[in-house]
Amino acid sequence: MISVLEAMRLVREHVPARRVETVPLLSSLGHVLAEDVESDLDMPPFRRAQMDGFAVRSEDLASAPVELRVAGEVFAGVTGEHRLEARTAVKIMTGAPVPDGADAVVQVEHTEAAGPGLVRIVRAAKAGANVVPRGQEMRSGQTVLSRGALLRAAELGVLACVGRERLKVWRRPTVAVLTTGDELVDVRARPTGAQIRDSNGYSVAAQVAAAGLPFAYLGIARDTREELRSKIRLGLSADCLVLTGGVSVGEKDLVSDVLKAEGVGLLFHQVAIRPGKPVCFGRKGNTLVFGLPGNPVSTFVCFELFVRLALGLWMGNPALERRTVRARMSAAFAKSVPDRQLYHPAFLTPSSPGGQLPAVAPVPWKGSADLLGLAGANAFLIQPPGAAPLAAGDEVDVLLME
Ligand code: AMP
Ligand code: MG
Repeated sequence: MISVLEAMRLVREHVPARRVETVPLLSSLGHVLAEDVESDLDMPPFRRAQMDGFAVRSEDLASAPVELRVAGEVFAGVTGEHRLEARTAVKIMTGAPVPDGADAVVQVEHTEAAGPGLVRIVRAAKAGANVVPRGQEMRSGQTVLSRGALLRAAELGVLACVGRERLKVWRRPTVAVLTTGDELVDVRARPTGAQIRDSNGYSVAAQVAAAGLPFAYLGIARDTREELRSKIRLGLSADCLVLTGGVSVGEKDLVSDVLKAEGVGLLFHQVAIRPGKPVCFGRKGNTLVFGLPGNPVSTFVCFELFVRLALGLWMGNPALERRTVRARMSAAFAKSVPDRQLYHPAFLTPSSPGGQLPAVAPVPWKGSADLLGLAGANAFLIQPPGAAPLAAGDEVDVLLME
């Protein structure tokens, strides 16, 4: 049995080297950028009106209200051929180029019609008002996104703006999820006798999706070598295979045996953790395999600690690793395990900015099968092996789940 830290070290060490791939912009969401991206133009590329209204010379408005002759109009997308003469205005729409000679745009709400071809400007405007100078947002040649940036919706917008329809990103691992157990039935079935519904398939698939990665759910494998073998073979064609159940010491816990027979080299089996002790981890070529213990909270904790870590490094987003923070107990907590690190579902209340440590309290939890207890938590209290009971007010390490 190895420590949690040692297990994390082994996972880190065995994540395959990252590879670059080129993807179309619309498929890049959730990837990490593998190149620096420069702008190919000034943004905006021309002096842009930021309001619907009238382009004017601010000096003409010194004695506002004033009446100006309307010399024409400019729309977005139309290059203005106007040059603004003294004591004239040009009607202008948001996004249109401001005519030469004009230095301000008066919003339409501050104007009134004043007869044919005339506008009354009710309020003076300062030079530069509602006019965005060329290049205010970006300069041509400026690095707008750097290698390592996580591509979210805003980043996709930036990339479109600078004309990048194809980009280099880190290839994301494909993840296959396989649950095992003779007792499991599909979510649509009503369990009878000694059956239960398969919940891990769904919670693990959701954990993969929450990490920003696509998943393939391979369904339930029965506890036979034949069925495990065929489904595991299928799963090994993914970059990462996550199994649940069948890794403990029961007579039908065949997963590690079958993995070995299929050529997976096990790097650890059993970690000093509660819940989740029987967890195993292995590698075959460039495929990583995690065997998570079947109890739903064991599965959950092991995914958050080990699988997320691997996926994050693999896709170039090390921030996926769950963070541990210091917090202050808002209640007493007496549990710990002599030879294992305890992760107990908890609720963390964020501290006010610049305030003290966040407050944390254990949530009611009945053990490794109690999914419902977990559902009310947003963190785990961490009690090292043999840790002394905690009193309200004590400091403690907390693993954040969000
Ligand atoms: P195992 O790790 O296969 O020994 O399973 C440990 C416990 O977790 C047993 O009570 C199983 O019934 C339960 N379990 C295993 N797989 C699942 C699953 N996919 N969904 C819900 N519970 C499961
Ligand atoms: Mg089982």
